[in-house]
Amino acid sequence: MAIDLVSRRAWGARAPRGGYTPLNATRGVKVHYTGGRVDPGIVGDHDLCISLVQSIQRHHMDGNGWMDIGYSFVACPHKKVFEGRGLHRLPAANGSGLNSGHYAVLGLVGNAGLVQPPDGVLHAILDAVEHLRERGGAGREIKGHRDGYSTDCPGEPLYAWVRRGAPRPGGGDGDGGDGDGGGDGDGTKAPPFPGRLLRYPPVTRGEDVRTWQRRMRARGWDIAVDGAYGAESREVCRRFQRRQGVADDGVVGPVTWRLAWEAPAAAEPREPADAPRTPGAPETPGAAGASETSGAPEAP
Ligand SMILES: [Zn+2]
Ligand SMILES: [Zn+2]
Repeated sequence: MAIDLVSRRAWGARAPRGGYTPLNATRGVKVHYTGGRVDPGIVGDHDLCISLVQSIQRHHMDGNGWMDIGYSFVACPHKKVFEGRGLHRLPAANGSGLNSGHYAVLGLVGNAGLVQPPDGVLHAILDAVEHLRERGGAGREIKGHRDGYSTDCPGEPLYAWVRRGAPRPGGGDGDGGDGDGGGDGDGTKAPPFPGRLLRYPPVTRGEDVRTWQRRMRARGWDIAVDGAYGAESREVCRRFQRRQGVADDGVVGPVTWRLAWEAPAAAEPREPADAPRTPGAPETPGAAGASETSGAPEAP
């Protein structure tokens, strides 16, 4: 499928301060995350993606003093690709000395809140990569920001995906794919949210509960598929929520429902950390704080 591009005009980008440094070609692309908390609510509301990208640009221009948002493109959970600096323009987010080597693509996940990249984010990152290869002179490399630079970025889940070779979720229509799968994500889309919260107490009963339990069981959780959401289901839900970095209220709402299908299932279940590690400062807002590349000059 063609790239679903959100133009600068469409997301209300501010004009850059000054001219871009032209970029003829790069070795490839470096993948980033926000480094701060990302509201899991963006999964259900693309308008929140737009606000977030605007706030990142504001932070980069007014906080870091950069001429524009530092990224070439930004990938959101809705498989949409926001135009940042765009094609053939030097990014700023890779860190001083590293910007001319790779374009910079941000996936809208953080180190708290929305931590696991939804499939839509992974698709959108790959759409941006292919766009950069076809139109921007990008080479074949897909790396993480941390490759060659001291940072946690792009976070464990995204970096693990990069290290696996950045497979298309579901194994479909990847470049040069041989069509027999091999992707780690199963590319499943969540069925529509049933429209009521699955919670306990009292016990919630119904086919929607059974659907969710069946899915959690398929993900490897030890849970009975009996259509009754009681203490056991609530406990599984809480552990899953902690694993996903969302509030562990033990209630299956729209975000927890979607994550059950769309969050990568690798290494699940496993005991979650008590709290996400937050080494270093975030590179974009959400949490306040200077960018990890704050103060870095834009010059290559
Ligand atoms: Zn980064
Ligand atoms: Zn979006």
